[in-house]
Amino acid sequence: LVEDSVRYVWRHGVSTDSTRRAQGPIAVRASGVQVEDIDGNVYLDALAGGSAAATLGHGREDVADRVASQIRTMQWVSLRTFINEPSIELAKRIAEVAPGDLTTSFFVCDGSEAVESATQLVKSYHRQRGNPGKTKFLYRKTGYHGTTLVGASASSSSEFRTWFAPLAPGFVELDACYTYRRPSGMTEEEYGEACAQAIEDEILRQGPETVAGILAEAIPAALVLTPPPNYLRRLREICDKYDILWIDDEVFIGVGRTGTYFGSEHYGVVPDVITVSKGITGGYVPLGAAIASQRVMDVLIADGGTGQAKVSGHTYSAHPVACAAGLAVLDAIRDEKLVDNVRDQGEWLLAQLRAWGRTNPHVGDVRGKGFLIGIELVRDKETREPFPAEWGVGGKVSKAGMRNLFMCRATGDVVTLFPALVATHDDVRAMFDGVTKAIEEALG
Ligand code: PMP
Repeated sequence: LVEDSVRYVWRHGVSTDSTRRAQGPIAVRASGVQVEDIDGNVYLDALAGGSAAATLGHGREDVADRVASQIRTMQWVSLRTFINEPSIELAKRIAEVAPGDLTTSFFVCDGSEAVESATQLVKSYHRQRGNPGKTKFLYRKTGYHGTTLVGASASSSSEFRTWFAPLAPGFVELDACYTYRRPSGMTEEEYGEACAQAIEDEILRQGPETVAGILAEAIPAALVLTPPPNYLRRLREICDKYDILWIDDEVFIGVGRTGTYFGSEHYGVVPDVITVSKGITGGYVPLGAAIASQRVMDVLIADGGTGQAKVSGHTYSAHPVACAAGLAVLDAIRDEKLVDNVRDQGEWLLAQLRAWGRTNPHVGDVRGKGFLIGIELVRDKETREPFPAEWGVGGKVSKAGMRNLFMCRATGDVVTLFPALVATHDDVRAMFDGVTKAIEEALG
């Protein structure tokens, strides 16, 4: 089977190195926060399935029943012809938990499509307001927004940028804004202000009449870049000043992961569009959504009066089975008070990791919110000097974790944990043991 997997299944990544393609055990079943491979090894899952989608953990009968029942009742009809009930109910439930006046969902199949649709919505908004020249998007270094041409063009991965060139025009990179790496001598507040000023300077350089939107996660998830407290508020003000819309990409962090339904809530700001995917269906079936504010929708439907969002649709837009899964997940989050669980257990885990990190000479920073936690490893704790990239320290940690049957992830030298929202106190205690052991072993 392993040989077949190398021959017939092409995994992620642009590498053509066959050893890379062969990496990774073959998973056969999963339950709760555990995943079992073909050899009977059982891994502790601190990554909600590996990419933050398994919000409720694995093997939920309630979601399976809801999905099966929807398949039996009506598996699919096209949104071009009919609206379906589960999509109406899900959109209404999302509006109840979304911040501000974000009321209207456009459902697609995954995160990349949600981002793509959001950018189309934003362009349509400006066109409708008589500003068709507003077409550029600003995004940030270290950002990741998906694999379509738009997603790749707004993502700073150098692999993407090299292999998939030429990318779409009109995407402009901003610096990341990330408290741990702020210039010495600057307060968090001053740094947040400096980052905001840099955004405004870039807008003026490009010409505000050409800038449509800013594509930015409230908390960039891959490296868990928690921003200075004033940064997003200033970003919001700048967007308003120049009639630029903020797409808050919450594909990773949305739907309860950070201890609030949406990450932007931590900073008291309301985006114009939020994108979600991953966690909304708990990994049972794929779904994505661009959730637009009433203010944006009012502009979009003003002249045509058709009530149709001006974005391109997909065959599987608002798939009823996916929307049924989304409803089951939102029900469970509400009924089991999972956002509170994430906040409580996340705070405990963060505090434990910080206390442990203080005594470890290579733990530079432990940061995060709720069940999104990053541990930045550095060569020198005092000077914050990073390890040389070629040492691949982060990669060694995730490999050590897998050897010890513990799933953790590293992006660069930031080791990340993002467990299912249902993880109990015993689970997060075991995750603390798992990640500290993996780091100590890799650095050993
Ligand atoms: N945006 C963000 C912030 C993401 O984390 C991801 C996926 N990692 C995407 C977009 C793309 O989502 P998908 O992989 O479902 O296309």
